[in-house]
Amino acid sequence: MLKIYNSMTQQKENFTPIHPGKVNIYVCGPTVYDFAHVGNGRTYAAFDVVIRYLRWRGYDVTYVRNITDIDDKIINRANENKEDFQAVVERYTNAIHEDFAALGLLSPNHEPRATEYVPHIISMIETLIKNGHAYIADNGDVYYDVRKFKPYGELAHRDIDKLESGARVEVNVVKHDPLDFVLWKLAKPGEPHWSSPWGEGRPGWHIECSAMSTCLLGDHFDIHGGGKDLIFPHHENEIAQSEAATHKKFVNIWMHAGYLQIEKEKMSKSLGNFFTIRDVLKQYPAEVVRYFMISGHYRSPVQYSEHAFELARSALSRLYNALRDLPEANAIDDTVYEKQFIEAMDDDFNTPIAISILFELSHDIQRSRENNPKLAAGQAALLKKLGSVLGILQDDPNKFLKAGTEHLDIEKIESLIAARNQARADKNWAEADRIRAELAAMSVVLEDASGTTTWKYTP
Ligand code: AMP
Ligand code: ZN
Repeated sequence: MLKIYNSMTQQKENFTPIHPGKVNIYVCGPTVYDFAHVGNGRTYAAFDVVIRYLRWRGYDVTYVRNITDIDDKIINRANENKEDFQAVVERYTNAIHEDFAALGLLSPNHEPRATEYVPHIISMIETLIKNGHAYIADNGDVYYDVRKFKPYGELAHRDIDKLESGARVEVNVVKHDPLDFVLWKLAKPGEPHWSSPWGEGRPGWHIECSAMSTCLLGDHFDIHGGGKDLIFPHHENEIAQSEAATHKKFVNIWMHAGYLQIEKEKMSKSLGNFFTIRDVLKQYPAEVVRYFMISGHYRSPVQYSEHAFELARSALSRLYNALRDLPEANAIDDTVYEKQFIEAMDDDFNTPIAISILFELSHDIQRSRENNPKLAAGQAALLKKLGSVLGILQDDPNKFLKAGTEHLDIEKIESLIAARNQARADKNWAEADRIRAELAAMSVVLEDASGTTTWKYTP
């Protein structure tokens, strides 16, 4: 039975979908004003594994991940660059799509953009005004009236009065309460704007997710996710808006990914301590970056460091090494490994344990490789199959192991290996060792097994 940790109840719960066999999931998507950083990537990679696993377990998953394509940050960026906000949106949406594809993130079934949902957003705000959960402030903006929604603070597990005293004292005097948040913001001259009953303006950030998620997945759906920073206020506000508008429970399970940290601090644009996915992909193969992101449990923090990427590279190399030079075969009819893998993943998507099982399997492959290559090939197929659930190990092993070797003179390496084999056949050990050392100086490491010599590039 799949168990998922629910941030709302703060415990692992047995997962029972609302409609048998079907899972509706919404993950808050990126705000497209810049390249995505690896912290963003971590959250989306975590949910990518969730989606892959749910599908592998036979659920029909509808995955919605929006694009926030209107926001202060986008407008500011457009003003800085003296360009249209749509140009900023298009450029970074394309860039993010490229980066996400490189990381092997599956495309969502729907990728709604806030600006395409303005009519739905307006109608939700109208409902909230009508039923007394929102008001038009003196400056003409529309605000959500937090005090009218009794369960407010439930997801963040904070008392509303404590939240209130913690809320920044803003210069904003139009709000009835410091926790109230904007639903519709009137446009300043020169800002992008849409018509509404309250004048030309644009939606607030929180309402867009309430409108898009309920529109695509229904008023009540299974899973809603994002990084931990979205718990408060974004997701708290989404609950307040959606439940006040529909009078129905909004979401069954709230899932939140832990932070990718750098020197123990959350990687973020505002702190300036970030590396873009794009830049990191120049340094490491995409699969290494993905492995780094998913090898820890999704709720735990991960630390960004070069060392961590090197560990990821060497772990993946060991797994690929097990897959190397074996014929195509059907996966062995195994119950033990697959069962353990499922047990780990059923326990709130415990990827570290799932990966440790892949390692056990890889050791078994290496043990059977010599004496029972047929068995080894079947085990390798199983390893590849389980790897696919995590979105890893689908590359050609030799290609992966030789990645980054494009600048090497492969012909020269092969001829040196041939010369060394000849020297060994001639029992000219000094010459064989000399050639091995010459290759090592090029970071090419030889492995002799079953009468053949293979090589790895380990810079
Ligand atoms: P944003 O574009 O800032 O709305 O962020 C997109 C997603 O990335 C959200 O789900 C955030 O919670 C998540 N996120 C941002 N920074 C980090 C981080 N350092 N570690 C993990 N997730 C993050
Ligand atoms: Zn959202």
